[in-house]
This record gives sequence, C-alpha cells and structure tokens, in this order.
Amino acid sequence: MPGIIQAYKTLAKNLGPSNWWPGETPFEVMVGAILTQNTSWKNVERAIEQLRIRDLLVPEKLHSLTAEELAPIIRSSGYFNQKSRKLKNLVNWFRTYNYSVTDVISDHRSTLEIRSALLDLNGVGPETADSILCYAFALPLFVVDTYTVRWLSRYNPQLATNDYHELQSLVTHAFQRAYKSDNPAGLTGHYNEFHALIVRLGYATCTKSNPDCGACPLRRQCNYGKQSQAASRSAIKRKSLSRAP
Ligand code: SF4
Repeated sequence: MPGIIQAYKTLAKNLGPSNWWPGETPFEVMVGAILTQNTSWKNVERAIEQLRIRDLLVPEKLHSLTAEELAPIIRSSGYFNQKSRKLKNLVNWFRTYNYSVTDVISDHRSTLEIRSALLDLNGVGPETADSILCYAFALPLFVVDTYTVRWLSRYNPQLATNDYHELQSLVTHAFQRAYKSDNPAGLTGHYNEFHALIVRLGYATCTKSNPDCGACPLRRQCNYGKQSQAASRSAIKRKSLSRAP
C-alpha cells in the first residue's frame, strides 16, 4: 500500500513549492487561522483585506477594538460575531507575551505546553492551534484538516482515520522516520509543506465530489485513483467493443 512519504515526494515534485502560509507576519497568520474556521480562504482574504485597510493587522491596534467593533469588519469570513470574540481571546493571550513569538516560546518549556495554552483559549481547537504553531511560530506540528482526512481515506484507506491526533501522529512518525537526521526546523518545513500540498491537491483534483484522478500526480499510487482509472479504461473498452461491427 502507498506510503505517506511517497505521496509527499510525488506531490512536492509535481506541484512545486507552496510557500505557505499566506500572511506577511506571524500575527497575520494567527488571525487567518481563526478566520478560516468553517469558511473558504477566499472569504478569509476579503476579511483580512478589510483589516489591512484599517491597519488592524497589528496586535496592539486589534487589541484596542471591542469584539462588537471588530465583528462587522470581518463579516465576510462568516460567523463574524463568534470569530471577533475568538480573535479577542487570542490577542489578549498574545498580549501577555508582549505580542512576541519569541516570548511565547521562551516562556514555555515545550511546544506541547504552548499548544495546551492555545487549546485553553475559547475558540481554539486542535487544527487552529497547530496552524498557529506550525505557520506562525515555526514549530514542528503537522496540521490535520478535512482535506487530509479526505485525501488519506482515498489514497490509503488502511491508514485512514477520523481521529485528529491519531492521524497527526501517523504523519509525524512517518516524517520522523524518513527525516531522522533533520532538526526541529527541518521537520517544521516538511510539515508546513506537506499540509500545504494536501490542501492544494484538495482544491485542484482531490475534490469533495468527482475527484479528477486522471489529472492527479498521485494517480499511479493512490488506491482510489488506480481503481477509478481502471474503471474508466474498461468503460472505454466496453464502448469501443459495442461500436465494433
Ligand atoms: S488519485 Fe484521485 S482520489 Fe487519489 S489523491 Fe488523486 S484525486 Fe484524490
């Protein structure tokens, strides 16, 4: 059965570097990680743009707003009343570390301790916490999301699971084995890139319905892809036989 690292290498070779996460500063990435909950990135971009126009992608400035003042500005991201409260929780927490990623890291004993502090905030679940840790703080955590679950359930159903931490640990162990000489920064780079590649794949070919396996770089490895390619080949064969005189 196809492996995780095999998929990573094929995707990296065929899709090229992702340069994720879209965001000019760690704080902008933190804001994006909240805004992207239950919505498309297009909607997030519109909300981020509204914040940028008002110069609110600066933590001190965002902190000076009330949740009620913030909500209409991020309306396009959906659930804006909830998200404005979540953003306020996050910015209040960040304030206790002088809005400094370095202070956050030095004030905790480990990455998992920071993760646990983030998970204690109302509105921050595992996916949001890991997005902040990997993409804003550059710490070695792999982000699991619906794209990851969907892709793996097709690619290798034997490995697939809906449990966030089980799937995260499956990927983490595969990378730790394959790149054992890498330091934490090297591993962060792999987790950063692999998650980005899976999301790009989810948009391009491995879509929710009717995945475009014929155009997918994983079609020769993926369980579902191989089956769907075989099915279309036999459909073509049947069609040509039925046309024969
Ligand atoms: S071959 Fe098809 S099912 Fe497999 S990863 Fe690609 S698009 Fe998804």
